[in-house]
Amino acid sequence: MTEKSRTGLNLDALFIGDKSENADIFKKTMDKLIDEHMGWRLNYMPQDKPLITENDKGSETFKKTSQHMQSVLDDLSVRLRSNSVPWHSPRYFGHMNSETLMPAILAYSYAMLWNGNNVAYESSPGTSQMEEEVGQDFATLNGYKDGWGHISADGSLANMEGLWYARNMKSLPLAMKKIKPELVSGKSDWELLNMSAEEVLEILNSVDPEVAADIKAHSARAGHNMDKLGKWIVPQTKHYSWLKAADVTGVGLDNVVSCPVDEHYRLDVDALEKIIRDLAAKEIPVLGVVAVVGSTEEGQIDPVDKIVELRDKLQQEGIYFYLHIDAAYGSYGRSLFLDEDNNFIPYDELKTVHQKYGVFQENKEYISRYVYDVYKAFPEAQSITVDPHKMGYVPYAAGGITIRHKNMRDIIGYFPVYVYDKRSGAPATLTPYILEGSKAGATAAAVWTAHRVLPLNVSGYGKLIGRSIEAAQRYYEFLKNLSFNINGNEVEVNPLTKPDFNMVDWTFNVKGNTNLAKMNELNLKFYQKASFVDGPVYNNDFLTSHTDFATDGYGDSPVPYVKSLGFSEDEWQKVQSVGILRACILTPFLYDRDNFASYAEKIKKAIEEKLTAILG
Ligand SMILES: *Cc1c(COP(=O)(O)O)cnc(C)c1O
Repeated sequence: MTEKSRTGLNLDALFIGDKSENADIFKKTMDKLIDEHMGWRLNYMPQDKPLITENDKGSETFKKTSQHMQSVLDDLSVRLRSNSVPWHSPRYFGHMNSETLMPAILAYSYAMLWNGNNVAYESSPGTSQMEEEVGQDFATLNGYKDGWGHISADGSLANMEGLWYARNMKSLPLAMKKIKPELVSGKSDWELLNMSAEEVLEILNSVDPEVAADIKAHSARAGHNMDKLGKWIVPQTKHYSWLKAADVTGVGLDNVVSCPVDEHYRLDVDALEKIIRDLAAKEIPVLGVVAVVGSTEEGQIDPVDKIVELRDKLQQEGIYFYLHIDAAYGSYGRSLFLDEDNNFIPYDELKTVHQKYGVFQENKEYISRYVYDVYKAFPEAQSITVDPHKMGYVPYAAGGITIRHKNMRDIIGYFPVYVYDKRSGAPATLTPYILEGSKAGATAAAVWTAHRVLPLNVSGYGKLIGRSIEAAQRYYEFLKNLSFNINGNEVEVNPLTKPDFNMVDWTFNVKGNTNLAKMNELNLKFYQKASFVDGPVYNNDFLTSHTDFATDGYGDSPVPYVKSLGFSEDEWQKVQSVGILRACILTPFLYDRDNFASYAEKIKKAIEEKLTAILG
C-alpha cells in the first residue's frame, strides 16, 4: 500500500472485534505504549531518586491500601460488566454507538497517561497541536478552504457555539452604527439586520483593533439589541440541544421557530420560504436557519442545496439568514464523496470510484443524487457541527464544530491573559474561541490518530461509513419483507421511510388494528423488551431504541405515515403521537451479505420471541 493509493484499507484490522478477535494486537500495542510512558517518566531527570522506595512498598499500610484499591476496582468491574450495554455487538441497534476504532481507543488510553489539558498550549504542546490539525481536518472534510475548527465536548455544545456565532454576527451591524456610523452609512435598521456574514466580517476586519473591540463590546455579547435579532428557524426534526442553546444564549425559546418537514422527514423548503417571507412582511429578521444532516430520530438529510439556493435568492431581495448545518450525525458521511486529494468526486464517477475502493459490497444505488447534492453544498454554510463520537467511531467525549471563515472566530473571541498571552507566540490557541475551558488532550489524540489511520475520504472513512449505509439498507430491506404470525395474529412491520443515511425507523402493528393508541402500546412494550427496561441488557439478544413523534414537536408531519398504516385522520387527532422503533445501524460488520444473513435469522427469532411475550 503506497502513500498515495490506499485502495487496500482493511477495516477488520481496526476494531477489537465482537468476540475480541484482535485482542492480541490491542494488548500488544497497549503494552508497548505503556512501557514507553513508564520509560518516559523514568528517564526524565535521572538524577532524581525514586520517592517511593522498595522499603515503603513493603509496609503493612502500603499493602493494605493497594489491596483495597484492587477490591474497589473489582467492584467497578462487576458494576460495568453487569450494567453496561453491549454496544459493540451486531445485535445492538440502540443509540448512535457501536464498536469504536481500535486506534482511537489506543490513542486515547495512551494520551490519557500524559493528562494533557488543551485549555492552553503550554499545558499540552503535543495534543494542542493535534487539535489544531483535527480542526483543519474538519474544515477540509466539509469543503472549507479558509476554515477552522476544533473539538468540543459534544454536538450539543457545538450547536450552542453555532448559535453564539450567529447571534453575535447578527448584532454587529447595529453596534457598528452606534460606534462608527460611517461604516454602515445609508443603511436602514432592516438593512443592517440583513447584512451577510461576509459583509460584516469584511467591515470588522477593515477597522483598527480598538474600534473592532469597541464594536464587539456593544454587540449581543453585552446584551445589546437582543430583542431585534429575529427568529432562529429549525426543522421539526431538530435535536433538543437547539432549545437549550436558545435558552442559554439569551435568544429565547420564543424566538425558535419550527419549520415543517415533508413525508421523508426532510425540511420542507417551500414551508421555509413562506415562514421567512411572512416574517419579512412584519419586518422580523431571520437570525439563522439550521439544516440537519442525519436527523437524530430518523437519520434523514435536509436539502441543504435547496436552502442555499433560497438564501441566495432572498439575498437579492435584501433578506439574509445565517446557515448552520447540524451534521453532528452526518458530517463524516462527506468522506464518501472526497477523493484522496480531497476533491469532491463528480456524480457520474462516484460509483466507479466506490467500486475501486471497495466502499460497498453490492453494486447498488446506495447514494442518491439527492444526498450527493446535499453534501456538495456543505461549504456554503457558515458553520457545521461534526461529532467524531458518532460516525467518527471515536470514544466519548468528542464533538466538534467547523466554521467557513477562520476570522469569524474574532466575533466570539476573548483573550484572557492567564491562558493566552499574545506575546508568548504559542503556535496553537483555542480557549479564547471556544465555550469550554479545560479539556482532555487525550480526546484530540484519539481523533487525530483515527483521522491519520483512516483518511477523511473514500480511501478511509468513506469505506467505514459505506459499511454502515450498506448494513442499514440490508436491514431496511429485511424489515420491509418481514411479518410475523403470533398465535394467529398477523403482525406487520412498517418502515417509516427509505433511509437517507444509516438509520431505520419502523413500527409493528397487528394487522387490521385501527386503534393508534393500541399500536403505540405494542411498540412501547416491544422497546421495553429490547432495552435495559426488561432485565439485564447483557442477557438481551436484540437491542433497539424508541421515540415518539408527537404534535408538539412534529405538528402533523407524521400524518402521511400514520394514514398509510390504515389509521384515520381522526385517530391521529385523538392520540396526537406515534411511537416509533429506531435502529442506528453503525455496526461495521453487517454490511457483508453472509454476516447479515446469519444475523437476520437471529434477529428475526429474537423479535418473534419478544412479540410472543407481549401478545401471546
Ligand atoms: C447527536 C446530535 C446532536 C447532539 O450531539 P451530542 O454529541 O449528543 O451532544 C445534535 N444534533 C444532532 C442532529 C444529533 O444527532
